[in-house]
Order: sequence, then C-alpha cells, then structure tokens
Amino acid sequence: MMDVVTLEDVNRQIGNGFRRLRFTPAIEAAFLRDYAANRVKLAAIWALIGTLIYDMVYFGDATMMSDVFSELVAVRFGIFTPFALFSVLALRRWPTARNYDLLAIAVAVLGVLLPMSVAVYSLSPYLFVYQNGNVAAFLFFVIALRPRFPTIVAGLVLMCAVQFTTTKLNGSFDDVVYTGIITFYVTLAIFLAMSAYFMERTDRLNFLHQLRGGLLHAQLERKSERDELTGLLNRHSLARIRDSIWREKSTTAAVTVIMLDIDRFKLFNDVHGHIEGDDCIRAVSQCILREVVGVGETFRFGGEEILVLMANIDRDEAHAIAERTRAAIESLGIQHRGLGGGHVVTASLGLAYGKLSEWSLEDLLRGADAALYEAKRNGRNTVSMFDGSGSAPFQEDQRDGGASVSVFAARHRTQ
Ligand code: GH3
Ligand code: MG
Ligand code: MG
Repeated sequence: MMDVVTLEDVNRQIGNGFRRLRFTPAIEAAFLRDYAANRVKLAAIWALIGTLIYDMVYFGDATMMSDVFSELVAVRFGIFTPFALFSVLALRRWPTARNYDLLAIAVAVLGVLLPMSVAVYSLSPYLFVYQNGNVAAFLFFVIALRPRFPTIVAGLVLMCAVQFTTTKLNGSFDDVVYTGIITFYVTLAIFLAMSAYFMERTDRLNFLHQLRGGLLHAQLERKSERDELTGLLNRHSLARIRDSIWREKSTTAAVTVIMLDIDRFKLFNDVHGHIEGDDCIRAVSQCILREVVGVGETFRFGGEEILVLMANIDRDEAHAIAERTRAAIESLGIQHRGLGGGHVVTASLGLAYGKLSEWSLEDLLRGADAALYEAKRNGRNTVSMFDGSGSAPFQEDQRDGGASVSVFAARHRTQ
C-alpha cells in the first residue's frame, strides 16, 4: 500500500530538515522509489564504463605485475567482469534501493579485493605505484555509483581494510611507506565520505523541492477546476468537459443537461443567515453528486444553480435520474423556516436532451434554462423537460411569454 504524501508533509519535512539523511516513512518510500529508478537507469552505463576501465588495467598488470600476471587476468576477466554483468541483470530483475546499494558495495569491495589479494604474492618493485590505482575504485564507488551514505561509509571502511591488510601481508613496504599508505587512504576516505554526505543532502533536498513542485501544481490545477465552496467543477471546466463530450463522432450519441436551482433560497439566506446558506449549498451539492456519480459531471454554474452534464444516457433514464435527485434533496430534510414550520429545502430541475450532432452545449443550456423556468412556474420542487424534438427555431422571448415547456421547439445547431 503506497502512502499518500501531502503538500503539508513535504513542507514540514523541509522545515524540520533531515540531518540523518532520512525522511518520514511515506516521503522516504517515495524517495527510495525515485532513487532506485534513477540509479538502476544508470547502472548499465556505469557498469560498462567501469568494467571497461577496470579491464584496461590489464596493461598495468602486464607491465607492473608480470610475476602474477596470469592470476590477475583470471580474477579480472574470470570473476570481476562476469560479476559486474550479473549485477546489471540482477538490478533489472529486482530494481530496489537496497539491492542497488548491496551490489554497489559488492562491486567496489571486489574491485579492490581481487587484484590486491593476488598482489599479496607479488615481488614486483612497482607494487607501490600499482596499489595507488585503487584510488580509482574509491572515486568510482563514491562519485559514479553513488549509493546511499551508510553504504558509502561501510564500503570505504571495507575497501580501506582490504587495502591495509593486503599491503601489510605483501611485506615489501617498510613502516614509513606503510604508514604513508594508511594516512593517504584514510584521508581520502574521510573526504569522500564527507562529500558523499553533502551530495546526498543536496539530492534529498532537490527531491523534496521537486515533490513540492509537483504537489503544488496538482493543487493549483485542482483549484482552477473546482469550486471552493462545494468542490464541484466550476464553469471554467465546462469548456474542457464539453469538448471531450462533443468529440464523440457518432450521429446517435446524445447528451442531457440538467439545470438545478434551489427553491426560495434568497429567503433561506435571509432567515438562516449566509453561513447556514453555504452549508445548505454544500449539502445539496453532495446530494446531487451521490445521485449522478458515474453517469454525469456536476458543475456549480452560479450561486445556487448547479449543472449536470450526462452523456450516453437516454431520455427516460435522464428524467428518472433528475426525478431521483429532486426527491433526494427533499429527503435531506433541511429545515426552511422562511417558508413556515415543517417546510424543507427543495430544488427545481430543468432538463434538455439532444443529439450531439444537432445540438451545441449552448443550445442545451438555453433549453434547460427554459425548462427550469417552467419548473419554477409549476410550483417548484419539480422536474421539467425541454421538448427538443421539433425543428422550428428556438425563440428566446418565449421564456417570458409563459408558454409551457412542451411547446418549445428545438432549434437545430446552425453550424
Ligand atoms: P427561486 O425559488 O425562484 O430560485 O428563488 P430564489 O430565492 O432561490 O431566487 P434566486 O435564484 O434569485 O436567489 C438566489 C440566492 O442565492 C441569492 C443569493 O443570496 C443566494 N446565493 C448565491 N450564492 C450564494 C452563496 O454562495 N452562498 C449563500 N449563502 N447564498 C448564495
Ligand atoms: Mg433559487
Ligand atoms: Mg438562482
């Protein structure tokens, strides 16, 4: 189960800091997913470059370490190279942060251990120069492979241990040279560990800022699409949804518009106050959402006017949904004292239904508006359907002419 990270979580994490290079569990999980994905993506290329360079030391083996040359070739090509290949394949199969770190430390330690354990038996006078080459393995591990900080510390400690043990066992360095080797590698390891700590901090901070940017963007998008009070889509989103519905090319596809308006709401505000008025709009909105979930998109069209767009629903079904919604709002039982004791909040609904190929959204909105007006005229708390079956031009002034909805004729889309 993936935990959801919120903007507040991220802001808090940025504020609290992360000295120990660890986030709170949910953010840490997200970071590790990102970390694993990024590192695994680069693993193949690093394995290729690293192994290529590692195998090129073949020439150094030949010139500096001729007495143990064949053994060096055997460990370089027989053990290390196959292991590097195996690591890349294993990561593809099991791409987790932990596996990456384990394989990175294994590659780094093996990279030093294999040639150095052979070098123990060498009498070469060039061994001092030869062992210095391990600096490359230290740098590759910390700068290229870049596992997490604890892995880096463990890796550096192990690599130093291998370095010090093998150079000691070889026996050809006197105390001064041996102390010099130890001082050099310890200093190198400390500086590398310090820089690894700060690199990971920067990585983590960048991750948090990126996460924050993404969450902010999502929040902005949500805000620009939704109405603050009700959480319904706002009018701004209407164009987008309209375009997605009207993209449908089928000539039989149809759409229904429901325009809903709360009855006597001005009076409700006057008697109950605007705060309760807001609560009422919210409750009615949620009720509508419950009724049309899965079949339509719901918008706050105006103050207490709510619009529902339903595609792929036939006329009777649409009417049934509207009627069910009307009844559900009434059943909320929100007292409307402005209308006298026992009265509850109700709404009137106007419907318009039409084929996408013949009607524009604007036509349907006009039709639903006319039907709503009719529902109000019929005493409110009712559903009215705009009759869009005819083909005579729709006349705006019929609205004021008091004609019944059923006599409104449809205007075909002009474009
Ligand atoms: P009718 O039954 O004819 O619709 O009567 P009505 O009083 O509801 O008429 P009208 O649509 O003119 O009134 C709408 C009222 O809705 C006016 C305004 O005070 C109120 N209103 C609009 N937006 C909000 C809002 O966001 N919050 C609150 N509390 N009231 C709002
Ligand atoms: Mg009203
Ligand atoms: Mg109104």
